[in-house]
Amino acid sequence: MKRIHFSFFIILSFFLVQCTSSGSHPEQSQTPPVQNVILMIGDGMGVSQVYAGLTANKGSLHLEQSEFIGFSQTYSANSYITDSAAGGTALACGVKTNNGAVGVDTAGNAVKSILEHAAENGLSTGVVASCAVTHATPASFVAHQLKRGMQEEIAVDFLNSDITVFIGGGRKYFDARTDNENLLEQLEEKGFQVALDMDDVKEVTSGKLAGLVAEEHPATYPERGEFLPESTQAAINLLKDNGKGFFLMVEASQIDWAGHANNKDASVNEMLDFDRAIKIAFDFADQNPNTLVIITADHETGGMALTGGDLASGEVEATYATTGHTSVMVPVFAYGAGAIEFAGIYENTDIFSKILTLYDFAE
Ligand code: MG
Ligand code: ZN
Repeated sequence: MKRIHFSFFIILSFFLVQCTSSGSHPEQSQTPPVQNVILMIGDGMGVSQVYAGLTANKGSLHLEQSEFIGFSQTYSANSYITDSAAGGTALACGVKTNNGAVGVDTAGNAVKSILEHAAENGLSTGVVASCAVTHATPASFVAHQLKRGMQEEIAVDFLNSDITVFIGGGRKYFDARTDNENLLEQLEEKGFQVALDMDDVKEVTSGKLAGLVAEEHPATYPERGEFLPESTQAAINLLKDNGKGFFLMVEASQIDWAGHANNKDASVNEMLDFDRAIKIAFDFADQNPNTLVIITADHETGGMALTGGDLASGEVEATYATTGHTSVMVPVFAYGAGAIEFAGIYENTDIFSKILTLYDFAE
């Protein structure tokens, strides 16, 4: 009798060990619920831009740690080749709209963005961009305007939004306006701490932050320094204490401009700057298992092709097919909670739907 009990104990122990060890593997289907989402957009970042960065960095990127990879189709409602407004709106609001439109559908109606859904559900929200915050990509998450050029109107939309933190350029659309309104004062009246350089941004450790560190756009890398990774960290620090979670969009805006300029060195510099911001997000996800990090693009820019290179020396040779955008599918890299949902080929608008589903917001 004693021997039977002993054998049973051995077998039971074996099963317990098996269950415990298999449960700790991240590839198991029981991933934690998604509470925090960091959506990182490399504007104009196709596979060539990624691989140019990887090559220049002698064979590695933080981005490589991504667990599930997909592709998104980027065409807009009225064009095979999207611009950043329609591309941003697809990611932010889940609708295909016309090129130039920001946060509105083809009929001009405002469509609630994922950031606005998150704010309505009590989450903290943020936007970081290495361009003016009123520029097409960040604007798509916060504003609703018929034309991307309406940057003073977009600044007013920032003022009237429930966003917790935004960091980028575009100060002149707030304090040097044609209507002579001073939106910086109005932001302060609404409880925002206004910071006009990175030293001031870093000093803000709680509450709401409007970081407007350039009149128009922050400089190209390396002239702007570690603006993007540091702003990503600063935003996370301000957002992370909300028990309900947060939504943060981070844009590496100037990968696109390097493509428009057909400037290989700029493509590499902006890509590697983005990769350092990606490491900040991955590190946070490692410490906070309810976090999903998505890295994607709104479209590819330049038709960049790598025509030579050397992984040992970091040399990259590239040519570009156009000074405009192209139509090719762009990669989607996912890391952390819910990452598996981003494997496959789908519409850019599905990225919005997948995030909304993973948050599991009550209607
Ligand atoms: Mg952009
Ligand atoms: Zn562009």
